Amino acid sequence: MSHENTVICLGELLVDQVVDAQGNRQNFPGGAPANVAVALARLGLPVAFVGAVGTDDTGRHLIQVLQHCGVDCRWEQPRSAPTRIVEVNCTVEGDRTFGGFIGGATTDFADAHLAAQQLPLAALSVASVLVTGTLGLAYPATRAAMTQAAATLKASGGKLVIDVNWRPTFWPDERAALALLMPWLQQADLIKVAADEAMALWQTDDIAQLQAQFPDTHLLLTDGARGCQYAFAHHCGQVPAFSVSVVETTGAGDAFLAGMVYQGLQQSWRFETPDHITQAITFANALGALTTLKPGAITALPTATELLDFLYTHTGKVWTLGRV
Ligand code: ADP
Repeated sequence: MSHENTVICLGELLVDQVVDAQGNRQNFPGGAPANVAVALARLGLPVAFVGAVGTDDTGRHLIQVLQHCGVDCRWEQPRSAPTRIVEVNCTVEGDRTFGGFIGGATTDFADAHLAAQQLPLAALSVASVLVTGTLGLAYPATRAAMTQAAATLKASGGKLVIDVNWRPTFWPDERAALALLMPWLQQADLIKVAADEAMALWQTDDIAQLQAQFPDTHLLLTDGARGCQYAFAHHCGQVPAFSVSVVETTGAGDAFLAGMVYQGLQQSWRFETPDHITQAITFANALGALTTLKPGAITALPTATELLDFLYTHTGKVWTLGRV
Protein backbone atom coordinates (compact mmCIF):
# COMPACT_ATOMS: atom_id res chain seq x y z
CA MET A 1 0.00 0.00 0.00
CA SER A 2 1.38 3.42 -0.91
CA HIS A 3 1.82 6.02 1.80
CA GLU A 4 1.08 9.67 1.27
CA ASN A 5 3.29 11.90 3.35
CA THR A 6 0.39 13.09 5.44
CA VAL A 7 -0.06 13.27 9.17
CA ILE A 8 -3.40 12.84 10.89
CA CYS A 9 -3.78 14.29 14.38
CA LEU A 10 -6.68 12.75 16.29
CA GLY A 11 -8.13 13.88 19.59
CA GLU A 12 -9.00 17.02 21.51
CA LEU A 13 -9.54 20.50 20.16
CA LEU A 14 -10.63 22.65 23.08
CA VAL A 15 -10.28 25.97 24.87
CA ASP A 16 -7.48 26.47 27.39
CA GLN A 17 -8.72 29.14 29.79
CA VAL A 18 -5.44 30.41 31.18
CA VAL A 19 -5.58 32.01 34.63
CA ASP A 20 -2.44 34.01 35.34
CA ALA A 21 -0.82 34.54 38.74
CA GLN A 22 -2.95 37.70 39.21
CA GLY A 23 -6.19 35.80 38.48
CA ASN A 24 -6.75 37.26 34.98
CA ARG A 25 -8.45 34.84 32.58
CA GLN A 26 -7.79 34.54 28.87
CA ASN A 27 -9.05 31.92 26.40
CA PHE A 28 -6.68 30.19 23.98
CA PRO A 29 -7.36 27.50 21.40
CA GLY A 30 -5.71 24.27 22.52
CA GLY A 31 -5.87 20.48 22.82
CA ALA A 32 -2.66 18.52 22.35
CA PRO A 33 -3.37 16.81 18.98
CA ALA A 34 -4.77 20.05 17.55
CA ASN A 35 -1.66 21.93 18.69
CA VAL A 36 0.57 19.35 17.01
CA ALA A 37 -1.48 19.71 13.81
CA VAL A 38 -0.98 23.47 13.73
CA ALA A 39 2.73 23.17 14.51
CA LEU A 40 3.17 20.78 11.56
CA ALA A 41 1.07 22.93 9.24
CA ARG A 42 3.29 25.92 10.11
CA LEU A 43 6.25 23.83 8.93
CA GLY A 44 4.47 23.19 5.62
CA LEU A 45 3.38 19.57 6.12
CA PRO A 46 0.00 18.34 4.88
CA VAL A 47 -1.86 17.61 8.08
CA ALA A 48 -5.46 16.78 8.97
CA PHE A 49 -7.34 16.95 12.25
CA VAL A 50 -9.87 14.33 13.35
CA GLY A 51 -11.90 15.07 16.47
CA ALA A 52 -15.33 15.81 17.89
CA VAL A 53 -16.04 19.47 18.60
CA GLY A 54 -19.27 21.23 19.60
CA THR A 55 -21.60 22.86 17.10
CA ASP A 56 -21.56 25.82 19.52
CA ASP A 57 -19.86 29.10 18.61
CA THR A 58 -16.76 28.04 20.55
CA GLY A 59 -16.40 24.85 18.54
CA ARG A 60 -16.99 26.55 15.22
CA HIS A 61 -14.45 29.21 16.09
CA LEU A 62 -11.83 26.57 17.00
CA ILE A 63 -12.33 24.79 13.68
CA GLN A 64 -11.92 28.09 11.85
CA VAL A 65 -8.68 28.73 13.74
CA LEU A 66 -7.31 25.36 12.64
CA GLN A 67 -8.41 25.86 9.05
CA HIS A 68 -6.88 29.32 9.03
CA CYS A 69 -3.59 27.72 10.13
CA GLY A 70 -3.73 25.34 7.16
CA VAL A 71 -5.02 22.21 8.91
CA ASP A 72 -7.46 20.06 6.91
CA CYS A 73 -10.59 19.76 9.07
CA ARG A 74 -12.88 17.89 6.69
CA TRP A 75 -13.06 14.92 9.07
CA GLU A 76 -14.03 16.79 12.23
CA GLN A 77 -17.18 15.41 13.84
CA PRO A 78 -19.54 18.22 14.98
CA ARG A 79 -21.54 17.37 18.12
CA SER A 80 -24.43 19.03 19.97
CA ALA A 81 -22.53 18.56 23.26
CA PRO A 82 -20.49 21.63 24.29
CA THR A 83 -16.89 22.20 23.33
CA ARG A 84 -14.58 21.52 26.26
CA ILE A 85 -13.12 24.44 28.22
CA VAL A 86 -10.19 23.60 30.53
CA GLU A 87 -8.90 25.86 33.27
CA VAL A 88 -5.10 26.18 33.18
CA ASN A 89 -3.52 27.91 36.17
CA CYS A 90 -0.16 29.60 35.62
CA THR A 91 2.52 30.45 38.14
CA VAL A 92 4.73 33.53 37.85
CA GLU A 93 7.50 31.21 36.59
CA GLY A 94 5.27 30.20 33.65
CA ASP A 95 4.50 26.66 34.88
CA ARG A 96 0.98 25.26 34.67
CA THR A 97 -1.45 23.19 36.67
CA PHE A 98 -4.79 22.00 35.36
CA GLY A 99 -7.97 23.06 37.11
CA GLY A 100 -11.40 21.64 36.29
CA PHE A 101 -13.67 22.07 33.29
CA ILE A 102 -15.93 25.02 32.75
CA GLY A 103 -19.56 24.25 31.87
CA GLY A 104 -19.89 20.55 32.66
CA ALA A 105 -18.55 17.28 34.04
CA THR A 106 -15.73 15.59 32.15
CA THR A 107 -18.05 13.21 30.25
CA ASP A 108 -20.35 16.03 29.06
CA PHE A 109 -18.18 17.50 26.33
CA ALA A 110 -18.17 16.95 22.57
CA ASP A 111 -14.77 15.26 22.50
CA ALA A 112 -16.15 12.36 24.59
CA HIS A 113 -18.31 11.44 21.58
CA LEU A 114 -15.99 10.69 18.67
CA ALA A 115 -17.66 8.05 16.47
CA ALA A 116 -15.70 5.15 14.99
CA GLN A 117 -18.26 4.89 12.14
CA GLN A 118 -17.37 8.41 10.96
CA LEU A 119 -13.59 7.94 10.84
CA PRO A 120 -11.80 8.55 7.52
CA LEU A 121 -10.55 4.96 7.23
CA ALA A 122 -9.27 5.37 3.66
CA ALA A 123 -7.15 8.37 4.72
CA LEU A 124 -5.90 6.57 7.83
CA SER A 125 -4.76 3.64 5.73
CA VAL A 126 -2.53 5.84 3.57
CA ALA A 127 -1.34 8.30 6.22
CA SER A 128 2.33 8.23 7.23
CA VAL A 129 1.73 9.10 10.85
CA LEU A 130 -1.17 9.21 13.31
CA VAL A 131 -0.51 11.53 16.25
CA THR A 132 -2.81 11.07 19.18
CA GLY A 133 -2.96 11.04 22.97
CA THR A 134 -4.67 9.20 25.78
CA LEU A 135 -7.42 11.48 27.13
CA GLY A 136 -10.09 10.11 24.81
CA LEU A 137 -9.51 6.62 26.22
CA ALA A 138 -11.50 7.81 29.25
CA TYR A 139 -14.74 7.85 27.23
CA PRO A 140 -16.08 4.61 25.67
CA ALA A 141 -17.16 6.03 22.28
CA THR A 142 -13.97 7.99 21.76
CA ARG A 143 -11.90 5.04 23.00
CA ALA A 144 -13.51 2.78 20.37
CA ALA A 145 -12.79 5.35 17.66
CA MET A 146 -9.16 5.78 18.75
CA THR A 147 -8.69 2.01 18.79
CA GLN A 148 -10.12 1.66 15.30
CA ALA A 149 -8.04 4.56 13.95
CA ALA A 150 -4.82 3.11 15.34
CA ALA A 151 -5.60 -0.39 14.05
CA THR A 152 -6.34 0.94 10.56
CA LEU A 153 -3.14 2.96 10.43
CA LYS A 154 -0.96 0.19 11.80
CA ALA A 155 -2.44 -2.46 9.50
CA SER A 156 -1.06 -0.51 6.56
CA GLY A 157 2.32 0.31 8.09
CA GLY A 158 1.83 3.90 9.30
CA LYS A 159 3.59 5.14 12.43
CA LEU A 160 1.61 5.61 15.63
CA VAL A 161 2.84 8.51 17.78
CA ILE A 162 1.31 8.91 21.22
CA ASP A 163 1.70 11.73 23.72
CA VAL A 164 0.94 10.29 27.17
CA ASN A 165 -0.45 13.68 28.24
CA TRP A 166 -1.58 12.35 31.62
CA ARG A 167 -4.36 14.58 32.97
CA PRO A 168 -6.20 12.87 35.86
CA THR A 169 -9.09 15.39 35.75
CA PHE A 170 -10.19 13.98 32.38
CA TRP A 171 -10.80 10.54 33.86
CA PRO A 172 -14.14 9.83 35.56
CA ASP A 173 -12.46 6.74 37.07
CA GLU A 174 -8.78 7.47 37.52
CA ARG A 175 -8.07 3.96 38.82
CA ALA A 176 -9.25 2.45 35.53
CA ALA A 177 -6.84 4.60 33.57
CA LEU A 178 -3.64 2.58 33.84
CA ALA A 179 -5.26 -0.63 32.64
CA LEU A 180 -6.44 1.17 29.51
CA LEU A 181 -3.25 3.15 29.00
CA MET A 182 -0.76 0.29 28.98
CA PRO A 183 -2.01 -1.73 25.97
CA TRP A 184 -2.71 1.51 24.12
CA LEU A 185 0.83 2.80 24.63
CA GLN A 186 2.49 -0.53 23.95
CA GLN A 187 1.41 -0.44 20.30
CA ALA A 188 2.99 3.00 19.71
CA ASP A 189 6.02 3.50 17.48
CA LEU A 190 6.95 6.62 19.44
CA ILE A 191 5.85 7.76 22.89
CA LYS A 192 6.42 11.17 24.40
CA VAL A 193 5.99 11.47 28.14
CA ALA A 194 6.84 14.38 30.44
CA ALA A 195 8.89 13.50 33.54
CA ASP A 196 6.14 14.49 35.98
CA GLU A 197 3.64 12.33 34.08
CA ALA A 198 6.00 9.34 34.20
CA MET A 199 6.40 9.83 37.96
CA ALA A 200 2.63 10.02 38.46
CA LEU A 201 1.87 6.95 36.33
CA TRP A 202 4.86 4.67 36.89
CA GLN A 203 6.62 6.20 39.92
CA THR A 204 9.82 6.61 37.95
CA ASP A 205 11.40 9.06 35.55
CA ASP A 206 14.27 6.67 34.84
CA ILE A 207 14.36 6.18 31.08
CA ALA A 208 15.81 2.65 31.39
CA GLN A 209 12.96 1.55 33.65
CA LEU A 210 10.44 3.06 31.25
CA GLN A 211 12.09 1.36 28.29
CA ALA A 212 11.66 -1.98 30.03
CA GLN A 213 7.89 -1.38 29.90
CA PHE A 214 7.90 -0.25 26.25
CA PRO A 215 10.80 -2.16 24.69
CA ASP A 216 9.60 -1.91 21.08
CA THR A 217 8.87 1.82 21.15
CA HIS A 218 10.96 4.93 20.64
CA LEU A 219 10.68 6.71 23.95
CA LEU A 220 11.10 10.42 24.69
CA LEU A 221 11.08 11.65 28.28
CA THR A 222 10.90 15.45 28.38
CA ASP A 223 11.54 17.58 31.42
CA GLY A 224 11.01 21.21 30.48
CA ALA A 225 14.16 23.32 30.80
CA ARG A 226 16.09 20.21 31.89
CA GLY A 227 15.91 18.77 28.37
CA CYS A 228 14.98 15.39 26.97
CA GLN A 229 16.13 11.81 27.52
CA TYR A 230 15.61 9.26 24.79
CA ALA A 231 15.63 5.48 24.41
CA PHE A 232 15.43 4.39 20.77
CA ALA A 233 16.12 0.62 20.70
CA HIS A 234 19.76 0.32 21.83
CA HIS A 235 20.48 4.06 21.58
CA CYS A 236 19.88 5.97 24.81
CA GLY A 237 20.96 9.48 25.72
CA GLN A 238 20.11 12.99 26.76
CA VAL A 239 19.78 16.26 24.81
CA PRO A 240 19.76 19.58 26.71
CA ALA A 241 16.95 22.10 26.22
CA PHE A 242 17.65 25.59 24.89
CA SER A 243 17.95 28.36 27.43
CA VAL A 244 15.18 30.90 26.89
CA SER A 245 13.24 33.54 28.86
CA VAL A 246 10.01 31.67 29.45
CA VAL A 247 6.69 33.51 29.40
CA GLU A 248 4.27 30.55 29.56
CA THR A 249 4.83 26.89 28.70
CA THR A 250 1.43 25.74 27.33
CA GLY A 251 1.93 23.81 24.10
CA ALA A 252 5.70 23.34 24.47
CA GLY A 253 5.35 19.56 24.58
CA ASP A 254 3.06 19.58 21.55
CA ALA A 255 5.46 21.74 19.56
CA PHE A 256 8.27 19.42 20.62
CA LEU A 257 6.30 16.38 19.44
CA ALA A 258 5.54 18.04 16.11
CA GLY A 259 9.29 18.55 15.70
CA MET A 260 9.93 14.84 16.29
CA VAL A 261 7.23 13.86 13.78
CA TYR A 262 8.71 16.25 11.23
CA GLN A 263 12.18 14.82 11.76
CA GLY A 264 10.82 11.28 11.69
CA LEU A 265 9.42 11.92 8.23
CA GLN A 266 12.57 13.70 7.10
CA GLN A 267 14.70 10.75 8.29
CA SER A 268 12.24 8.17 6.86
CA TRP A 269 11.71 7.13 10.47
CA ARG A 270 15.12 5.46 10.64
CA PHE A 271 16.84 7.48 13.43
CA GLU A 272 19.92 5.41 12.62
CA THR A 273 22.61 6.82 14.89
CA PRO A 274 22.78 8.87 18.11
CA ASP A 275 23.69 11.86 15.89
CA HIS A 276 20.48 11.47 13.89
CA ILE A 277 18.44 11.19 17.08
CA THR A 278 20.20 14.19 18.65
CA GLN A 279 19.55 16.22 15.51
CA ALA A 280 15.85 15.34 15.67
CA ILE A 281 15.57 16.18 19.37
CA THR A 282 17.50 19.44 18.95
CA PHE A 283 15.01 20.45 16.27
CA ALA A 284 12.12 19.43 18.53
CA ASN A 285 13.65 21.26 21.51
CA ALA A 286 13.81 24.45 19.43
CA LEU A 287 10.11 24.19 18.65
CA GLY A 288 9.36 23.57 22.33
CA ALA A 289 11.53 26.47 23.51
CA LEU A 290 10.03 28.92 21.00
CA THR A 291 6.52 28.00 22.18
CA THR A 292 7.36 29.10 25.74
CA LEU A 293 8.07 32.65 24.60
CA LYS A 294 4.39 33.64 24.20
CA PRO A 295 1.19 32.77 26.07
CA GLY A 296 -1.12 30.05 24.77
CA ALA A 297 -0.30 27.11 22.53
CA ILE A 298 -1.53 27.68 18.98
CA THR A 299 -0.88 31.40 19.35
CA ALA A 300 2.71 30.69 20.40
CA LEU A 301 3.75 28.05 17.85
CA PRO A 302 6.59 29.34 15.67
CA THR A 303 6.63 29.81 11.92
CA ALA A 304 9.19 27.94 9.84
CA THR A 305 11.28 31.11 9.50
CA GLU A 306 11.26 31.75 13.26
CA LEU A 307 12.33 28.16 13.85
CA LEU A 308 15.18 28.22 11.33
CA ASP A 309 16.43 31.59 12.65
CA PHE A 310 16.36 30.27 16.22
CA LEU A 311 18.23 27.11 15.27
CA TYR A 312 20.88 29.10 13.40
CA THR A 313 21.33 31.55 16.30
CA HIS A 314 21.51 28.83 18.95
CA THR A 315 23.43 26.07 17.16
CA GLY A 316 25.57 28.12 14.75
CA LYS A 317 24.47 25.83 11.91
CA VAL A 318 22.16 26.38 8.95
CA TRP A 319 19.12 24.12 9.17
CA THR A 320 16.73 23.48 6.29
CA LEU A 321 13.26 22.05 6.25
CA GLY A 322 13.83 20.14 3.01
CA ARG A 323 11.45 17.62 1.54
CA VAL A 324 9.71 15.14 3.79
P1 ADP B 1 5.01 19.18 28.35
O1 ADP B 1 4.76 20.55 27.76
O2 ADP B 1 4.37 18.09 27.57
O3 ADP B 1 4.74 19.11 29.83
P2 ADP B 1 7.84 19.69 28.74
O4 ADP B 1 7.47 20.72 29.75
O5 ADP B 1 8.85 18.69 29.14
O6 ADP B 1 6.56 18.89 28.19
O7 ADP B 1 8.34 20.49 27.46
C1 ADP B 1 8.56 19.85 26.22
C2 ADP B 1 9.79 20.44 25.58
O8 ADP B 1 9.63 21.86 25.40
C3 ADP B 1 11.06 20.28 26.41
O9 ADP B 1 11.69 19.03 26.14
C4 ADP B 1 11.89 21.45 25.92
O10 ADP B 1 12.50 21.16 24.69
C5 ADP B 1 10.84 22.54 25.68
N1 ADP B 1 10.68 23.35 26.89
C6 ADP B 1 9.68 23.28 27.79
N2 ADP B 1 9.89 24.14 28.82
C7 ADP B 1 11.07 24.76 28.55
C8 ADP B 1 11.84 25.76 29.20
N3 ADP B 1 11.46 26.29 30.38
N4 ADP B 1 13.00 26.16 28.62
C9 ADP B 1 13.41 25.64 27.45
N5 ADP B 1 12.72 24.69 26.77
C10 ADP B 1 11.56 24.26 27.31
